[in-house]
Amino acid sequence: MNNIFPKRAVSNPDRREKKVKEKIKTAEKRTFESRKRSVRISQGSVEQRTWLKNNYTNENEEMICQICKSEMPFRKRDGEYYFEAVEIAGAEYFDVEHEAQYLALCPVCSAMYREFVKNDEEATADIIDSLKYSDDPEIELTLGELNTTIQFVEAHLHDLKVILSDIEV
Ligand SMILES: [Zn+2]
Repeated sequence: MNNIFPKRAVSNPDRREKKVKEKIKTAEKRTFESRKRSVRISQGSVEQRTWLKNNYTNENEEMICQICKSEMPFRKRDGEYYFEAVEIAGAEYFDVEHEAQYLALCPVCSAMYREFVKNDEEATADIIDSLKYSDDPEIELTLGELNTTIQFVEAHLHDLKVILSDIEV
């Protein structure tokens, strides 16, 4: 069943039109540069993306999200899946670049991971700890009210452990 879509009626169209026009007049012109930059960050570099795509595409040619374990929600105009390459933790943990430091996530899981793990020092430290010391390919994870896991293919977890064993946390 669909949720109720919100209604917001316009009671005084003339007044509203005037207000919108005033706001447009005083609004700052947006720049294209800042938008381009943020898109690139959320999608990751070409090397990271190819590596993740190869690791998380199953035998049915479906690419799977590491957190919700569902097929990525849509394909782009070029036929490739849309997904986000999200670094597991920031520069305080990873001082070199390696593909294994990234997760292949759908847009919703990506947003939740950023909000509940990357913006929270303690949650980030917990994930790093689990990755270092657990041999389970599924790492437990709390995203707000949701208890879930991040699942890894063996090769990914292996490489990540090698990188992390070099780091003092
Ligand atoms: Zn997901």
